[in-house]
Formats: sequence, C-alpha cells, structure tokens
Amino acid sequence: MKKTAGLRSRIGVIIHSIRFRLVAWFTAILAVILFVFSSFIYYNQSRDLHADELRDVEAKANGLTQLVSGALRTENDNITIPKELLRESDVLVLVNPAGQVLANLGPITPQQAVQIVTAGLRFNPQVTNPLVYWESPNHQHYVFTALPVEERGVSFLLIFGSLLDPNKANARLLFTLAIGSLLTLTIALIGGYWLADRAMRPVKTITHAARTMSETDLSHRLNLNRKDELGELADTFDEMLARLQAAFERQRQFVADASHELRTPLTIVNLETSHALAAKRSAEEYQHTLNIIHSENDFMTRLVNDLLTLARMDGGQVMINKNQVDLSDVAIDAVERLESLAARNGVTLETGDLPEVTIMGDRQYLLQMISNLVENGIKYTTSSDKRVRIETGLAEGEAWIRVSDNGPGIPPEHIPYLFDRFYRVDAARTRKGQDKADSQAPTGSGLGLSIVLWITQAHEGEIKVSSIPGAGTTFEIRFPAL
Ligand code: ADP
Repeated sequence: MKKTAGLRSRIGVIIHSIRFRLVAWFTAILAVILFVFSSFIYYNQSRDLHADELRDVEAKANGLTQLVSGALRTENDNITIPKELLRESDVLVLVNPAGQVLANLGPITPQQAVQIVTAGLRFNPQVTNPLVYWESPNHQHYVFTALPVEERGVSFLLIFGSLLDPNKANARLLFTLAIGSLLTLTIALIGGYWLADRAMRPVKTITHAARTMSETDLSHRLNLNRKDELGELADTFDEMLARLQAAFERQRQFVADASHELRTPLTIVNLETSHALAAKRSAEEYQHTLNIIHSENDFMTRLVNDLLTLARMDGGQVMINKNQVDLSDVAIDAVERLESLAARNGVTLETGDLPEVTIMGDRQYLLQMISNLVENGIKYTTSSDKRVRIETGLAEGEAWIRVSDNGPGIPPEHIPYLFDRFYRVDAARTRKGQDKADSQAPTGSGLGLSIVLWITQAHEGEIKVSSIPGAGTTFEIRFPAL
C-alpha cells in the first residue's frame, strides 16, 4: 500500500517536472510534424507512382493493340496471342463483338476473365483509354484499359490489365516513413530528456543550496559561473543572499549594540540602588542616588526612542507626509525648543540669515533632524564662549541649512563613520554623563546622526560635515528647492 503510494507520488513528481513537460511537448510537436511530413511525402510519392503506372498501362495497351493486330490469327475464332508480348503479371483478354471471351492471358482464370469483361461492359470503345480497377480474389489490385482492335473488318476489344505497384513500393515507403519517424521520435525523446536533464541540473543545485541554508548562516553562495539564463538567476540569487546576509548582519549588530548600550545604565542603576540600600543613608546621599537613576532613566528613554525610530525607519513603517515647508520656519522652531537646554549648558544659540526657503518635506521629521544637529552642537561644545549657529539659504536651485558650532571639532579619521549606528567619536567622553563625578558631560548613544541621515535621504537631500579639530564643526544639508 505504502509502496504504491510512494510510486504514485514519484510518478506525480516526474509528470509535473519541467523536464518531463518540456520533453513531452517537444516530442508531441515533433510527432505532429513528422506525421504531416510523412503523409505529405507518402501522398505525393504514391500519387506520382500511380500516375506513372497509368501512363505505362496506356502506353503498353496502345503498343499491344498494334502488336496484337499483326499477331492475331483467326482460325475459327480461335485466337492465340503470343505470350512473349506480356509481362508475367500482365493480363490480356480479347473479346469478340458478341462480348465473348476469345482469349485470356496472364495470372487469371477464364472465369475471372469473364468477370473482368462483365466489369468491362462499362468499357466504352468511344472513350479513349477508359480505366477500370479490379481486385483479384487474393487482394491484388489491377487497372484495366480497353482498346478496339480491327482485324479483317471485324472489331475486337482488347482489354489489358496491369498489376498495380507490383514491387510494393508504396508499402515499403510507408514502412520506411513509419520506422524513420519512430526512430526519430525515440532519439528525440531520449536526447531531449538528456538535454533537459542537463539544462535543469543547475536548478537542482539551487534547490539543494537553498535547502542547506539555515536562517543563521547565509554565507552560502551558488557560484554557478554560467553565462546563460540560469547563471543569471543564480547570480541574482547570490546577490540577494549577499543583501540578506548584510541586512541580517546589520540587524544582529543592531540588537547586540542596543543590548550593550542598555547594559551600562542598567548596571549603574543596579549598583547605585544596591549601594543605597546596603545601609541607612543621609537625605543628600539618597538624593544623589535618585539623581543618578533619573539621569540613567533619561538616557535609556532617549535610547529606546531612537531605537524605535530607527527600527520603524528600517521596517518601512515611517510615513513621510511631504508638504510645502519653509526650512527657516522649522529652524526657528528647533531653536525655540532647544533654547532652555542651550541656556542650561551655557551655550548661545545664534541664528544667521533665515530667508524663506521652501522645500517639499515632512515638518515633524525635519524638526527632528535640525534638533538632533543643534542638540549635538550644544552637547559637544566645550569652549568658554560656547556658540551654536543656525542659518539657511538658497543656492543653485538647492535649499540648504547649516548648523555650526565652535566646539572641539571631529578628527578627520572619524568623519566617514559619523553616521554609522552607535558610532561615537570618543565613547568614553560621550558616556561620561553617567559618571557620578561629571553629570554635566555630554551623553549620547551614537544614533542621532543615523536618524539625521535617514531623514535627509528620505527628503532626497545630502549631508556634508566639515570640521576643524579645536575650532568647531559644521553640518550642511542640501535639499532640492521648490
Ligand atoms: P550621539 O547620540 O552620541 O550624539 P550622534 O550620532 O548624534 O550620536 O553623533 C555621533 C558622534 O559624533 C558623537 O558621539 C560625537 O562624538 C560626534 N559628534 C556629533 N556632533 C558633533 C559636534 N557638533 N561636535 C563634535 N562631535 C560631534
């Protein structure tokens, strides 16, 4: 029972395989072509052969009439026809005006001669070379023609018959065509299956590779190195795998970095609370601990918010609703939002030229983008005369916004990585905010600029950083202006 079910499913697999269907279609089409072609050849050949035979019969009958008239001897109506005038299979019947058979030659009996004459009653001497077909009892086909013979004033009828296709040329042709077609079909079937099998082999490789791939190991590649369509498919597959692997790697890195980032504040909270609970503390000590917990909580909230924003951006869940927006307007909003933070950090927020600069954009995201840059300026500016300057403008059909500060600047070797997630120029410095000794130092997770870059690109913009260590940093973003 199980065996037959297994066999049936195997047959099902074969029947549904592309290989089988390709070969079946190919063979079926070839069979139709061969059939039409063979029929055409057979029909033409047999028609030509038959026409030749009829011409022969007529020519021979004409020749015989002349020969027979000379050779006829009337001896009391007892007529003899010289045998040497006929082929072995030829039939000749001589009929007198009364319709009686006077003589018959060839492989027929006198009764059959009468039969032929009866059939030959339809012979009309007025019609030149009338033709009558006759089938002998042993299924041999003859064609007869009748011609009048004049002999000493008496008109006889000479009926001449010839065996059709005595060499069985038609049957042989049919046989040859049938065998030839069968052989061609067999070769096509086997050859076609072999070819299809060869052509489909890379598909098996791809299937096998896909099966052996696990979700955590995407390093496998097909490397088919073929120039045909399947090679192209395999290359596309490899490229897709490379993209998937990179995305997977990014994702893994992202999760690892996020966990790592969360571990430090969690550890600090844990240590601080354990320390505070270990013995009775003064009110100031409790306040100090609570301050640290509060600051760590702030950091984690920001981190989680940034992570969530980036995850949404990666997942394509962020809807950018573009409307006409004045970039300067958004810049003023950002300044107003961050003024108190700047004041707390002793930073002066300056606005340069802010002419009306209209672009198509999502106000909310543009505000976040500018705020992140200004916040960085505030966070990282350490000089005594701390300043962050914002200005906007139009140049060569582009709208630009510039955020510059007179902070410590960024060493050139860090610039290419600034927009990478979790990248911080000086990780120790930027995490110092959690240090009990220096709660005023900048804090950051290295996600702010990744978000800025994403928003810029979502608005078809470009971002540039120029920085002089010790003198300050300028971020410039350009958008297509309206
Ligand atoms: P973070 O949340 O740490 O600020 P960002 O992605 O915004 O993350 O910035 C990445 C790093 O680039 C920061 O950690 C900081 O070292 C550096 N950076 C960004 N803006 C400035 C700036 N205005 N001046 C000096 N360094 C900066």
